[in-house]
Amino acid sequence: MIQAAAHIELNINALRHNVRKVRELAPKSNLMAVIKANAYGHGLICVANSLTDVVDALAVARIDEGIRIREAGVQGRILVLQGFSQLDELELLQRYQLESVIHTEQQLSILESAMLQRAISIWIKIDTGMNRLGIRPEQFSVVLQRLQQCSGVQPEINFMTHFANADDIQGDKTTRQLQLFNEVTKLNVGQRSSANSAAIIAWPETRQDWIRPGLMLYGASPLLQQTAQQLMLLPVMSLYSQVIALKQVKKGEAVGYGGSWVADKDTSLGVVSIGYGDGYPRYAKQGTPVLINNKRVPLVGRVSMDMITVDLTEHTDIQVGDQVLLWGDGLPVEEIAAGAETIPYTLLCGITRRVQVMVKD
Ligand SMILES: *Cc1c(COP(=O)(O)O)cnc(C)c1O
Repeated sequence: MIQAAAHIELNINALRHNVRKVRELAPKSNLMAVIKANAYGHGLICVANSLTDVVDALAVARIDEGIRIREAGVQGRILVLQGFSQLDELELLQRYQLESVIHTEQQLSILESAMLQRAISIWIKIDTGMNRLGIRPEQFSVVLQRLQQCSGVQPEINFMTHFANADDIQGDKTTRQLQLFNEVTKLNVGQRSSANSAAIIAWPETRQDWIRPGLMLYGASPLLQQTAQQLMLLPVMSLYSQVIALKQVKKGEAVGYGGSWVADKDTSLGVVSIGYGDGYPRYAKQGTPVLINNKRVPLVGRVSMDMITVDLTEHTDIQVGDQVLLWGDGLPVEEIAAGAETIPYTLLCGITRRVQVMVKD
């Protein structure tokens, strides 16, 4: 393979380290690692294979993601968070031994009418305030009863909910959602799961029978108030490219599309081979840092598809061919997200196919 300028390096040791840190926070909980959306951009198969022996289950959003990891040989428990919406999808879940979330009455009807050879493992999702997926609390007992009478359903039925505001560490919305969830499910023996990364960190009482960390496994913090470093999480993905040209511009000259940045003094620029075609955010603001030779250098001008420009006036030692870190080990992705007015999730998920992946064990 020809070495591309733009590549990500995946640190599998960091991934496993983060699993240990999550377990230290919630030692009594089973850990379901969320690897939807191509494992948050890190590569579904590679991450699934690296996690399968250190977590208790994996979770994906969609059936095709579950099938892909089964076909890659992953053996443990896999939950499909969106479940099925048609009979043939239910049959796929069964064929590949994937567990399903039930979040609407329509799914229940499909399940009741299906002739399944092997019982499927079910998680009832209760909507406690997110108002996206999930049955309403008042439907719970009927749904549970109907599921218990379904021959195609395994007898141990689990319960889950999802928080809308777990990263808001001051408000009371998470506590209210949790109380409702516990109230609705209290008379039942099934296992409970509510916490995503933010809740695992900020709301200890949400660390129930199962926790469902996503972002924090990849070494980023979901909370503005706490950095990944403070949480002792290590970045799994580092995005690199190279300086491909140096250029001098004079005071008053405009740089890049739209001429949105104008040099206020004679300036040395570096052109770096990375752009929104790789997943670097187009809306990254002037001054968003990149790391070259361990020095922070500011972005100037608009991000284009294949290139960005950086101000090297203070760093005359930097040369064509020098490696550039866009985020990762030494430059938190949260900081770049802040610079682009987005969240770390979108940056990690947004890495595109042309970016080469190098795995560091
Ligand atoms: C994505 C997702 C998670 C993981 O969320 P993070 O914020 O990345 O930890 C957990 N549960 C459900 C239902 C999800 O969709």
